[in-house]
Amino acid sequence: AKQESVSAYRLFTPSLRQTRESAAAAEVQMKRGLDRDEFELHYQPIYGTKSGAIRSFEALVRWNHPERGLVPPSEFIPLAETSGFIVQLGRRVLRDACRAAADWPKPIGVAVNLSAVQFKDLRLVHHVREAIEESGLAPGRLDLEITESVLLEHSPRLLKTIEELRALGVRITMDDFGTGFSSLNNLRRIRFDRIKIDRCFTRELTAEDSDAEIVRTIVRLSRTLKMETVLEGVETEHQLEFARSEGMTEVQGFLYAKPMRASEIAGYLDQRRIE
Ligand code: C2E
Ligand code: CA
Ligand code: CA
Ligand code: CA
Repeated sequence: AKQESVSAYRLFTPSLRQTRESAAAAEVQMKRGLDRDEFELHYQPIYGTKSGAIRSFEALVRWNHPERGLVPPSEFIPLAETSGFIVQLGRRVLRDACRAAADWPKPIGVAVNLSAVQFKDLRLVHHVREAIEESGLAPGRLDLEITESVLLEHSPRLLKTIEELRALGVRITMDDFGTGFSSLNNLRRIRFDRIKIDRCFTRELTAEDSDAEIVRTIVRLSRTLKMETVLEGVETEHQLEFARSEGMTEVQGFLYAKPMRASEIAGYLDQRRIE
């Protein structure tokens, strides 16, 4: 994405980030940005591997900064997480994504990323319910992507939160699988609808190496546990063919499309099949 070349320099330099004052200043900037609607969601399609039809879009946040242009999430999500601002930002993301999806001309799903910090906040279930209710989106069309960092804490409250979310009727995806402190045990403890294999595996895939073997094992386990599998970061026909031959259910990546603006979705859907 050329529009993301802004990431060539960092919005908040590491040295600045270390001082408490500048972290506070950054938080003020982000809060102001939220008030001024500077955060926008882009959407990347996720395709069914077999059907070749669109199943959903993943919402990915960007900061349309007045001076810096489009700032990618890697530049501000970490800070938003340390300051706790992610709770407010995440609430907005949920509402915007649900409202947008409810207006799409075809009834497909929307996936929203949740930070571990949002999971620690007691209002999360309320925020998800609020987004569903005010948008009128069918809850089954909302998919919450959570990373393994959420599961680091083996608290009973975490499991209860996930159950409460499920009770709303939304779907839950284990995101970035394989990058963190993965434990296959997590997949048994918690019922996920989907598991998304991180791009770092996809990048390294060759037919007979160890990465491919790991992915095969995960896919086999997912099938046993009745979970769908998404291969993320599919850029080549070879990677797509791997997903196909291994029976992964969904694929996402630049081979199909880069994340697009909300305004582009209707046109994109117009010429394409959904599933
Ligand atoms: P993620 O959840 O793993 O999202 C996938 C990232 O990979 C996105 O980067 C996407 O643009 C990129 N990507 C997808 N397909 C390809 C491909 O084929 N090739 C390459 N090179 N890249 C691909 P993005 O949008 O910069 O987001 C980065 C991360 O920021 C996300 O990783 C996610 O962890 C976080 N993020 C984005 N939006 C949100 C949000 O609303 N809330 C939270 N908590 N985190 C978010
Ligand atoms: Ca994700
Ligand atoms: Ca990832
Ligand atoms: Ca490899």
